[in-house]
Amino acid sequence: MEHEKQTYEFKTEVKQFMNLIINSLYSNKEIFLRELISNASDAIDRLGFKAQTNPDIVGDNGEYKIKITPDKNNRTLIISDNGIGMTYDEVVENIGTIAKSGTAAFMAAVEKSKTQETLAPELIGQFGVGFYSAYIVADKVTLITRAAGASEAVKWESTGDGTYTIEPTTKASHGTEVILNLKAPETDEQDFTDEWTIRHIVKKHSDFVNYPIVMDVEREITEKDDATGQLLDADGKPVKQKKTEIREETLNSMKAIWAKDKKEVTDEEYNNFYTHISHDWNPPLTHIHFRLEGVTEYSALLFIPSKAPFDLFYPTRRHGIHLYCRRVFIMDDCKELIPEYLRFIKGVVDAPDLNLNISREILQQDALVRNIQKNLVKKILDALDQMDSETYAKFYDEFGAVLKEGMHTDWQNREKILPLIRYQTTRSDGKKISLKDYVANMPPDQEEIYYITGENISVMINSPHLEVLKEKGYEVLLMTDPVDEFVIQSLPEYEGKKFKSAEKGNLDIAGVDKEKSETYSALFDKIKSYLEEKVKDVRPSSHLKDSVSCMSGDAGDMSAYMAKLLKSAGQDIPEAKRILELNINHPLLEKMQHVFESDSNDPSLKDYSVLLLDLAIVGEGGKVDNPSRFIKMVGDLTARAIS
Ligand code: ADP
Repeated sequence: MEHEKQTYEFKTEVKQFMNLIINSLYSNKEIFLRELISNASDAIDRLGFKAQTNPDIVGDNGEYKIKITPDKNNRTLIISDNGIGMTYDEVVENIGTIAKSGTAAFMAAVEKSKTQETLAPELIGQFGVGFYSAYIVADKVTLITRAAGASEAVKWESTGDGTYTIEPTTKASHGTEVILNLKAPETDEQDFTDEWTIRHIVKKHSDFVNYPIVMDVEREITEKDDATGQLLDADGKPVKQKKTEIREETLNSMKAIWAKDKKEVTDEEYNNFYTHISHDWNPPLTHIHFRLEGVTEYSALLFIPSKAPFDLFYPTRRHGIHLYCRRVFIMDDCKELIPEYLRFIKGVVDAPDLNLNISREILQQDALVRNIQKNLVKKILDALDQMDSETYAKFYDEFGAVLKEGMHTDWQNREKILPLIRYQTTRSDGKKISLKDYVANMPPDQEEIYYITGENISVMINSPHLEVLKEKGYEVLLMTDPVDEFVIQSLPEYEGKKFKSAEKGNLDIAGVDKEKSETYSALFDKIKSYLEEKVKDVRPSSHLKDSVSCMSGDAGDMSAYMAKLLKSAGQDIPEAKRILELNINHPLLEKMQHVFESDSNDPSLKDYSVLLLDLAIVGEGGKVDNPSRFIKMVGDLTARAIS
């Protein structure tokens, strides 16, 4: 065999993760079984999907099931499945690590939880406890697995204290066996080798699992006389004769929750089902359960999560919508059923008219699938629209940035998405409001909807660009999501009111004093000549009231935030020059004008010009070219002003 026994060390984040799980779930130990059953069920799903196009892969082991084998005397519990199994490389990749995309996100979340007191269960929930939950109850875990189609099997083993081993082994057929060496139960604790404890846990958390979860049980049998139905002894005398036999019993009903009547499903059942399909440990925010009859027939059970998963913005994201056909699993994470901007939705769709052998390629063009997608979108948008405002605010905080993507990707539904969009504003005190509320709050003389884009709310609120607007009592939308830049481009107006950038172009509301501008024009030309390499123009400002200068652009220019976003996404953005706006009512300009009138070549004019530019940049939270020169100049000037 090509592989030998290897010892590996757990990565730091895995150790932290395991500690977190063991310490925070001690009062809810039984969920380890749910997690291992979920993994087994997923593995069977995946094999089933493969077998649709390659039936030979299952050989004679195609009667899918998950088996639980307790051993009271040795205190072990085995959870085995005949699913897809894992190759050596897959074991290395999957067991003993955290999904690659998750590592950085996990460490960041741990850091955050230190300062924000996020509860550990909530933190874990984001990542799914999965396989590691075995260590809540076991002090040693052995995993033996053989990938479908492979001949070699692999054994993974660890006491969870820092290292694990992987070595080749043998196994009769494909699938995975997880062997738990149970810790000694504390007094009053559940005994996970006890038949009734296991039955109870399976019923509670995994009843709906699509495959039989079986266990061998010992049952008494009594023998009856076939003719009379009486119990007889050897002499033919009636007697009670007891025997025992071992029987394999199925513990779960396998009833598809989505096929049930809404009234028959409890919240707890919905939540448990959600956990099973989503691997998200937090209860969902809400669910949408319906059946459609008519030309397009299908039933759906959709969930809106309460927390955004860490991989919401990763392309490797999993666990979306599961597709079934008459309760037969077809595929998980069916991306064709849901548009990208609703990718946070989890759930199940069961379409009886679907072609069972459908491939992912054909799925995209399938008229039925497209029809279902259209329908699901409508149902989801309606559900969001009808949500009470408190629940909706929670939803929006987690998924608003994703939902908004629909504004420029789903033109058909823009009218429905638009009312769902919320923004903080300069006057909303941290609350996010709808455009409808914004327009309702507009003073009568305000004609346009003002917005500003950026990444830091407090820099935006205090931006000098907003001074005139604030004085007029005009509210400004604060747009902080990168996607907003695109949303605004596909959204020229709302209720007949145009969107207008509060930082670019001329505001056209306060009116710049024409005459005064004229008197300053020679000075402005002079300033421009000093700053020619940095700015494309120097203009009297329509934005400023108290501040002396700010940066701006023409209405059609790219915003500073957009330029920064594109640059950080690795795009080559030509250094676009911006406009320096100056407040002609500010005393500094008046004084510069005096200096200029007495000597148009006074060297201090150049210093002041550079200072005006630096002040404008600092005002929008930017970085000046030469900070030490800037500080020295401000220091010198202040000293002079005081003397
Ligand atoms: P999650 O299931 O949330 O991805 P886990 O830590 O539980 O996280 O499992 C990691 C990976 O290990 C799974 O994604 C799967 O690829 C693999 N795995 C776990 N259990 C099994 C199993 N019983 N059969 C096959 N693969 C498994």
